[in-house]
Amino acid sequence: MYITTTIPYVNARPHLGHALELVQADVLARHHRRRGEPVRFQTGTDDNSLKNVLAAEAEGVPVRELVDRNAAAFEALRGPLDLSFDAFIRTSSHPGHRAGVERIWEATRHDLYQRHYEGLYCVGCEQFYPEGPCPDGHEAPLQLVSEQNWFFRLSRYQDILLDLVRGGRLRIEPAARRNEVLAFIEAGLDDISVSRSAARARGWGIPVPGDPGQVVYVWWDALANYVTALEGGDYDRWWVAEPRKVHLMGKGVIRFHAVYWPAMLLSAGKPLPTGIFVHDYLTADGRKISKSSGGAADPVALVDAYGVDAVRWWLLREVPRVGDADFTEGRLAARADEDLANGLGNLVNRVVTMVHRFLDGRVPVEAREEVPFDVDDAVHEALEAFDFRRAASAVQALVEQANRYVERTRPWARSRAGQEVALATLVHACRTLAVQLEPFLPTAAARVAAAVTFAGDGRLPRPEPLFRRLAVPTAGPRDAPRAGVDGGRSPA
Ligand SMILES: [Zn+2]
Repeated sequence: MYITTTIPYVNARPHLGHALELVQADVLARHHRRRGEPVRFQTGTDDNSLKNVLAAEAEGVPVRELVDRNAAAFEALRGPLDLSFDAFIRTSSHPGHRAGVERIWEATRHDLYQRHYEGLYCVGCEQFYPEGPCPDGHEAPLQLVSEQNWFFRLSRYQDILLDLVRGGRLRIEPAARRNEVLAFIEAGLDDISVSRSAARARGWGIPVPGDPGQVVYVWWDALANYVTALEGGDYDRWWVAEPRKVHLMGKGVIRFHAVYWPAMLLSAGKPLPTGIFVHDYLTADGRKISKSSGGAADPVALVDAYGVDAVRWWLLREVPRVGDADFTEGRLAARADEDLANGLGNLVNRVVTMVHRFLDGRVPVEAREEVPFDVDDAVHEALEAFDFRRAASAVQALVEQANRYVERTRPWARSRAGQEVALATLVHACRTLAVQLEPFLPTAAARVAAAVTFAGDGRLPRPEPLFRRLAVPTAGPRDAPRAGVDGGRSPA
């Protein structure tokens, strides 16, 4: 499976909304790897956006400096968030990107033409609207732009796109997003402008081949990353031969991915993605995430304060498949305490403690009962539907099932033989939990696995708390870097 996130523009540092998409993609990647499937998980940054240019101007620093600094902050989420991406592409510095964009441009040349254009442009969205204000909520007034641009014959692809989406060859989830795309296409597709004047772009971006007075529209440039990052044999492997190619994205950018991008590929004679999963937005304390959103403005500060398990668990267990989710640090701490410290951590601790108390640390694993502590199918089905919350709940249900088993078998009240059966069964359940938890909380899963793995002396390690309680944090998030964070959608 080839799994991508969108590549955010880098006018500011990453916030929790970016972390959501990265963690979702990471769970899919780890889940499919665990099933033995080949996986490529790719993310990156859209360095060529005009928004980056304007942010650099506002800060009074060279564009290159601002882009390098913020892109590095995105790439550096890997460690704190336990991300397992295989590739990180930056559109301004990836060696194959510019040449790849130029090749796609040439391959679609039969659908490109020049036209004088006048329209109202939202820099926040990097797109034209028939009238203001920006429907996505950007406050800056739309700019009247009048120039000669290159246009792409999107209108030619209306019928084939309808067939693709209706027939499910391009699967869009959730269904409401699919219907939104169908309604957009059915309303009729106009040709779209795919370049802008180099002057308006302040000379930043990829020049149009053969027309250096224009640069390639940033969306065209950014969308191309899904194939331009595939170098050498990787393109054939991951874009031609791979049967499952899935793009994850926020709801604001669905039109670009479900309409413009497939049309570009059709025009260029390239294969299409097979799946598009659209998540909704996060708010923080009921408001759009902004630089004053505390921990939500800085996922690394959040990890520093609460730990990566609590942050990933909140994103996976609390954010619904459909509908916005509101983040507060209180909810994050409460959820982690309930499920991780009191639920999973307490279960493992209880089991290991009993193994030491009753069986001197040793468990005859072959004595276990065949109790179906198995949620593999439930997790897989939920993740096939991109329902991360349902998948995390299935893992949590295993904890509850094991706790009920403890209550039902009451190992402390049994004969030694009975204790062996019950505790061997529970150790097996904890090992299953470690396996099932790995895609969601890789570091916690490793701690659970270590807690129920025999040491050299054939005994389990002494019980230790696996999770600290967070509800009354001893320290707030460290002073977060206060770079501008607008909570806006990412451009690709
Ligand atoms: Zn806008």
